[in-house]
Amino acid sequence: VVPAPRRDQARPAAVQARPAAASELGDAGDFRNEPDTDPALAPNRAWGRSILARVPRSTLGNDTLAACAVTSADQAVALVTRVREAAPAWAARPANERASVLLAAADQLSARRADLIEVAASETGKMIAEGDVEVSEAIDFARYYAASALDLERVDGAQFVPSRVTVVVPPWNFPVAIPAGGVLAALASGSGVIIKPAPQARRCAAVIVEALWAAGVPREVLVLADAPEGDVARAIIEHPAVGRVILTGSYDTASLFRSWRSDLPLLAETSGKNSIIVTPSADLDLAAADIARSAFGHAGQKCSAASLVILVGEAARSERFRRQLVDATTSMRVGWPDDPTSQVGPVIEPPTGKLLRGLTKLGPGESWLVQPHSLDESGRLWSPGIRDGVRPGSDFHLTEFFGPILGIMTAATLTEAIALQNAVEYGLTAGLHTLDPADVRVWLESVQAGNLYLNRGITGAIVRRQPFGGWKKSAVGAGTKAGGPSYLYGLGTWARADRDR
Ligand code: GLU
Repeated sequence: VVPAPRRDQARPAAVQARPAAASELGDAGDFRNEPDTDPALAPNRAWGRSILARVPRSTLGNDTLAACAVTSADQAVALVTRVREAAPAWAARPANERASVLLAAADQLSARRADLIEVAASETGKMIAEGDVEVSEAIDFARYYAASALDLERVDGAQFVPSRVTVVVPPWNFPVAIPAGGVLAALASGSGVIIKPAPQARRCAAVIVEALWAAGVPREVLVLADAPEGDVARAIIEHPAVGRVILTGSYDTASLFRSWRSDLPLLAETSGKNSIIVTPSADLDLAAADIARSAFGHAGQKCSAASLVILVGEAARSERFRRQLVDATTSMRVGWPDDPTSQVGPVIEPPTGKLLRGLTKLGPGESWLVQPHSLDESGRLWSPGIRDGVRPGSDFHLTEFFGPILGIMTAATLTEAIALQNAVEYGLTAGLHTLDPADVRVWLESVQAGNLYLNRGITGAIVRRQPFGGWKKSAVGAGTKAGGPSYLYGLGTWARADRDR
């Protein structure tokens, strides 16, 4: 019997039941997810407030960053060479040793839960609760990939040969979980790692790297390269010793990397333009709440966010649904993360380009159901908006805006709705709200997206339970799913095992 995760304990004293050593790990199937902090408990709220108080003066990670600046292409090349030389010793360690280091990394990340939440809020404006789930996910990645490392050794007749050097290029929108996930996967596979942080989330990356070094990852095997975008980053990626690049970012960035090096082995999770279909049989109240959360959580700055709702038949004519959606949206409190009542935080920078267009300009036939407004001088706080009457093939139908803005489309039938859902170039997440099993069958046969969600929101994939990754233009290269059973396989090659060993 697997005991339920403990949700009754307060941070920071909570220590989760966990395997003490790699020898106690079964296969990845025995894995359990780390619980998030429960804000219903008063001590946890006090803990959260103590983090908030530190956010304005936060300097965590600065010292490490100062030591990791890479300012020239020559320096970048030297760095890759250093990791290439150190990597074979890491790869040669038995998998259970590497797994033990990753389990220790889970503990180190857990010990830094408050620090990671603080630095994510300080750098990117992420809410305390949103940072908290990211730390849980990072811990999950450490434990899950520890078990996956053991699985790599269980394959008969074939030996896994990891990439010597893997470069991890994470985004700023999940500044804890995504960098940690990429680095931990590469380390579990036996690869040396260079992490090039997003410019907006450099201190988060530094705190993660500090945690992993403290867990016993050798400093020459895991290197933080605080490099500017452009030539220095290019020198790293072009280096022939780099065997894999794990990128989470835009499709354009993936294309840029490919233009630098056409043979680049990429594992890239790229953009999304995700929608939720609502059929006439759906629980409309539930749908409205799920849609608002999926669209406006983290101010819509998720690849997985809902950007469109597609209403079918009677649902398309439902005044009540629109009212519920408006209420669910306008009742969200917009504010900075240091105010514990905030629900929708700031966007990463004052909107320009397509996001500004998405927040301010209506397309032909469209009208504001809820018009977004800039709320303060910073230009970063926007009340979430909803545009009605989005037309098939229009700018709003097809473009990813990456901010707090949602569009409504309508369709006569479910088949037509699925065609609208699939008409976008991307295929990351997709949702369906219906109470009719026949709808579910039709949808599952034809929807084109990596992560599917039925009668719930479409963000928040969970390690092992629902690995994360897309298809079409949402994935470039070896698109296996992060937090899933075959992710590590993409980080190397298989050779016939030497029977005499
Ligand atoms: N894994 C996140 C989710 O499931 C999304 C990550 C992203 O936006 O890149 O919501």
